[in-house]
Amino acid sequence: MARVELKDVSLNYHTETDEVLALRDVNLTVEDQEFVAIVGQSGCGKSTLLSLVSGLLSPTTGSVTIDGEKVEGTSKRVGYMLQQDYLFEWRTILDNALLGLEIRKERTRQAVAEVKDMLQAYGLGGFEHYYPSHLSGGMRQRVALIRTLATKPDVLLLDEPFSALDYQNRLSVGEEVVKILRERKKTVIMVTHDIPEAVSMANRVVVMTPRPGTIRSIHAISMCDEGLTPLQTREVPQFREYFGAIWKELNADA
Ligand code: ADP
Ligand code: MG
Repeated sequence: MARVELKDVSLNYHTETDEVLALRDVNLTVEDQEFVAIVGQSGCGKSTLLSLVSGLLSPTTGSVTIDGEKVEGTSKRVGYMLQQDYLFEWRTILDNALLGLEIRKERTRQAVAEVKDMLQAYGLGGFEHYYPSHLSGGMRQRVALIRTLATKPDVLLLDEPFSALDYQNRLSVGEEVVKILRERKKTVIMVTHDIPEAVSMANRVVVMTPRPGTIRSIHAISMCDEGLTPLQTREVPQFREYFGAIWKELNADA
């Protein structure tokens, strides 16, 4: 069974004066442990699609299911990570990483130990009692990821997670994040503007049309299935071919 399934989904935003059809006839299935990247122009409905999977929004028509169950409101099974890391500057790294658990009233001794292990495993071991302002952008993003992983979601939604980082950092954080998510066998849907980032990280890249967003095409990326890391993927000759094909599709609408 598909981990995540969107069937004939459309979404209409109603405002006081207006209606905006943000998504139309979206059909997408994401398998367990798959990494799907979504690319498309600004305003084409990428964030809307993630909000539907997270249960923050309900589709106007069609259905969204996780493991065959209809998504109704937010659930523990889904973790949502945004572009900004939203760390609280007055909380230590450990307390930031524990925030999701605290909100769910699950800050048990066992949970704290697990989060400490994750901080250790992902290069933040000495920083538990530091404050976010002492960390690099890449480290902060890792703390945000650990906070999201701490509540043990099966499905992770990443909305332009690296766009606040500079190019160099984006490459290395992308490499680490993929390693972590593969180790933990997560299913991932990531939205990005950045075609190379999508091709280097994902099993499949979904290209969307401008608003109302529909799925224009889906590209299966062979390098990911072969287990290459994002940096390794960028080195193989097919990388440019995928890039070229997707770039053309995105710019056909411009
Ligand atoms: P993307 O993430 O691809 O940039 P969004 O999903 O944020 O696009 O938005 C898709 C479209 O829906 C945009 O045209 C946006 O202006 C519109 N939109 C998003 N949120 C709302 C809202 N709360 N009310 C009305 N329109 C919205
Ligand atoms: Mg967006």
